[in-house]
Amino acid sequence: MLDVRHITKKYGKVTACDDVSFRLEPGSVTVLLGPNGAGKSTLLKSVAGFLKYQGSITVGGFPNKSVEARRLLGYIPEMPSLYPNLTVSEHMEFLARAYRLTDYAGRVDELFRRFELEDKRRKFGDELSKGMQQKLSICLGLLPEPKLILLDEPMIGLDPHAIKELKLIIEELRAQGRTMLVSTHIIDSVDMLWDRTVIMDGGRVRANVTRGELEKDGRTLEQLFFEVTEGTAPEGGEA
Ligand code: ADP
Repeated sequence: MLDVRHITKKYGKVTACDDVSFRLEPGSVTVLLGPNGAGKSTLLKSVAGFLKYQGSITVGGFPNKSVEARRLLGYIPEMPSLYPNLTVSEHMEFLARAYRLTDYAGRVDELFRRFELEDKRRKFGDELSKGMQQKLSICLGLLPEPKLILLDEPMIGLDPHAIKELKLIIEELRAQGRTMLVSTHIIDSVDMLWDRTVIMDGGRVRANVTRGELEKDGRTLEQLFFEVTEGTAPEGGEA
């Protein structure tokens, strides 16, 4: 569903992504894990088609910047970018028109209900708290029902209800056969159903394992994380 090959992205002298390659199977949840500055956001923005980089990225076999790939792809950024002069409902309508969606009203209602935005429908983008903006941004990303969904640090700024709802939605989307790539620097936030983890540090992929491989190895995600990012397992960690 996603094929990332030899991606290198530099900002001036900083190499944010350094020869990154991995593939994601359809219907899987992959956690992109790494400390701050590891290159996760840069990688997701590259996949979403917003940056120039060296290497190639295909989505469902199509180059990621093609019209075909864009139809398959949904991107939920770390920093929501909303229109200050559009209301919550107008944002959804605007997106639905851009994607030429039909019969979407029921889905909008359901997303608003799940993310507790029903009573915020008439609020303008710049009247929303950071958490509400994040929730609207998630609703906007999910409305077109993309096959591949990129979520950049999606839990940050969300209240516990929204985190629970988002985790449930990720499980539901997975059951529907959708593919998700979820970035985070907080290991504890990924206790949800994940199938693969790609760990980045210093712009490079340091580990790429399935949950099954890790379990077979008898290691926890935390142990693997510290081993590959610091060369040690945390003290007191079981082998
Ligand atoms: P992460 O999402 O893992 O925290 P980022 O992809 O945001 O990592 O950043 C990777 C590296 O690239 C960091 O060193 C960061 O300072 C740098 N970087 C990110 N965006 C920019 C930018 N727009 N201009 C210059 N440097 C950037």
